Amino acid sequence: MITSISENIDQVSAQIAKACHLAGRSSDSVSLLAVSKTRPAEDIRAAYACGLIRFGENYLQEALDKIEQLSDLPLEWHFIGPIQSNKTRPIAEQFDWVHSVDRFKIGQRLSDQRPPGMAPLNICLQVNISREESKSGCLPEEAPALARQLSALPGIRLRGLMAIPKASDDEQEQRRAFADLRHLLQQLNSDLPGLDTLSMGMSGDLNPAIAEGATIVRIGTALFGARAPKNA
Ligand SMILES: *Cc1c(COP(=O)(O)O)cnc(C)c1O
Repeated sequence: MITSISENIDQVSAQIAKACHLAGRSSDSVSLLAVSKTRPAEDIRAAYACGLIRFGENYLQEALDKIEQLSDLPLEWHFIGPIQSNKTRPIAEQFDWVHSVDRFKIGQRLSDQRPPGMAPLNICLQVNISREESKSGCLPEEAPALARQLSALPGIRLRGLMAIPKASDDEQEQRRAFADLRHLLQQLNSDLPGLDTLSMGMSGDLNPAIAEGATIVRIGTALFGARAPKNA
């Protein structure tokens, strides 16, 4: 198991380096977020032993258990799943980043509940870039006003945008969705300079995401193998 995680990390790192090279970007312009949802703490230890420090989790209770079990390691924790407004406090207290803020109320609660003395919580605004009926994320046209409101909150620091585009086998279509997110970030930056993050690209679409400017790719399956289906 440990060997295979280490081989997978080498493979994904090489894929990122190659995609960066093709895009004329330096390979340290993309950071690898290891999505460890459903994986045991031992897998995270194994990945840490191979040099990974950033881990993304979707399910709060599961994440809190692992954060506690791994508190001896200097890890950076990213919350990337849907957020219920009555569950914001532990997120504000225990995470370094949240990629899935899609409404003002959540940002406001995270800001209020961020403990004084901790650095502001890094935030991405999640955008429903493919306008899918059932997807989380604000609509692209809502992003400018929301970004302005979120960037005024003292306990959080708006860093950029996150999206999960509609699944597609067509690389051109994937690229278009990522390009839309990049253009939206450029538009926001004319008003709110300093937004430096595009969280986009997963195991199946990291090449087009990097070609269109991803700065964080969120990779689960390609590092840890296929996940068992989550019971409802
Ligand atoms: C599960 C998940 C990922 C990782 O997906 P893989 O296809 O396993 O790489 C990335 N981002 C989010 C928001 C996820 O929920």
